[in-house]
Amino acid sequence: MRMYNTLTRKVEEFVPCCEGEVKLYTCGPTVYHYAHIGNLRSYLHEDVLEKYLKYIGYKVDRVMNITDVGHLTSDGDEGSDKMVNSAKKEHKSVMDIAKFYTDKFFEDCATLNIRKPDTVVPATSLIDDYIKIISKLLDTGYAYVNGGNVYFDTSKLKEYYVLTNHKEDDLLVGVRDDVTEDENKRNKTDFVLWFTKSKFEDQELKWDSPWGVGYPGWHIECSGISLKYLGEYLDIHCGGVDNIFPHHTNEIAQSESYIGHKWCNYWFHVEHLNLGSEKMSKSKGEVLTVDTLKAKGYEPLSYRYLALSSHYQNKLEFTFENLSGAQNAYLKLRAKVLRLNREDGEVNQEMFDKYKKQFMDAMDDNFNTSMALTTVYDVLKADTNDATKFHLIEDFDRVLSLDLTKEMEKKTAENEDEILKLIAERAEAKKNKDFATADQIRNDLLEKGIRLIDTKEGTTYEII
Ligand code: AMP
Ligand code: ZN
Repeated sequence: MRMYNTLTRKVEEFVPCCEGEVKLYTCGPTVYHYAHIGNLRSYLHEDVLEKYLKYIGYKVDRVMNITDVGHLTSDGDEGSDKMVNSAKKEHKSVMDIAKFYTDKFFEDCATLNIRKPDTVVPATSLIDDYIKIISKLLDTGYAYVNGGNVYFDTSKLKEYYVLTNHKEDDLLVGVRDDVTEDENKRNKTDFVLWFTKSKFEDQELKWDSPWGVGYPGWHIECSGISLKYLGEYLDIHCGGVDNIFPHHTNEIAQSESYIGHKWCNYWFHVEHLNLGSEKMSKSKGEVLTVDTLKAKGYEPLSYRYLALSSHYQNKLEFTFENLSGAQNAYLKLRAKVLRLNREDGEVNQEMFDKYKKQFMDAMDDNFNTSMALTTVYDVLKADTNDATKFHLIEDFDRVLSLDLTKEMEKKTAENEDEILKLIAERAEAKKNKDFATADQIRNDLLEKGIRLIDTKEGTTYEII
């Protein structure tokens, strides 16, 4: 398998540290708002990456963080905490905000067949580990305390810009937009490891530390979580391209200074989904969510189909016209697959192997998902029986996750009466503004594989 590695700026053969096993880390969402379909584009390609690694036989150990503290409005340690701002706006506690948007994030992921990683870790759960790392960085001279905060000293590194070949000034534009430079920093690329002297008094989450009561910077959480759950040798680290600088650059700086050797071998970055000419962003402009697509009557998996039709390293311009085109193609494809008679004889092994190789060649070529999709169409046209076609497509769908061989008609749950009763209870709870109960019912059903769909006509359900 060959993949593009941001660290070397080359497409390289993938070789994990331990034979047969992959340690994979993914930067998770900052849970102060709904994930938009741009964020989900990144998670969708990361899902394909995980599933393909498993498809070719690796055991994958995957960890994702949930950012519930420390991510400021500017990625360059300036501004205020996004979680605190959102809690204030919605008159809720930070933890309630985090829970609500984390649950919603995984619900949206489930709708797009994005698998939840086995290990998901909220940033607030590992404070002692960050303190341990920061203490060692201070002891070894990689960090300093100034003006009440602890900073990483980037001048101590042989090379700081390991992930980019851009000029420093270009990189800093956008990161430090409209904000004054922090005068406590010795070098302008230094970054905060621990805030004690906050510019905003009402930071809700604070912890005791050797440097005073405070909270961790954004970058330290991913180093801390990854080192704790995946050890000192990481195979692949993923994120969207905006994470390259400063977030991933800073993660490398602090992790490698802490462990004293190279940390992660492959860096996988997904390009942005744009709306108009701008990156879709939670903090600026219009954002579209999975619920927006549903409300407009789209089958959400059409978005997965659209994303897979383009290469993860290319920008994707989102328009509803493109989504409609993807939906037409997707629904037609599903209908064709479902018309196959899977019982018509034995699988032709030679044909199976031929097309499986074509699919793997596409995926091995830096995850060419659009060629992989083309292989599905080639299989449908192939000169072989339906059973072979069906089993090939079922096999590819372990990676594509487009439900290509799943029945499209609505399936009725065996316990439909019970579900309908719960739907009625939820409607009543909503009427009484008891949203906690309403959410609880929705989440309990989701855990049991029943997804509720709210429509103008009322609530229905589907089996997932
Ligand atoms: P956030 O919740 O803002 O921390 O972002 C979650 C993930 O989505 C990160 O990996 C980002 O790099 C990624 N991301 C943010 N905006 C976009 C976008 N417009 N297109 C694709 N990925 C994005
Ligand atoms: Zn991260």
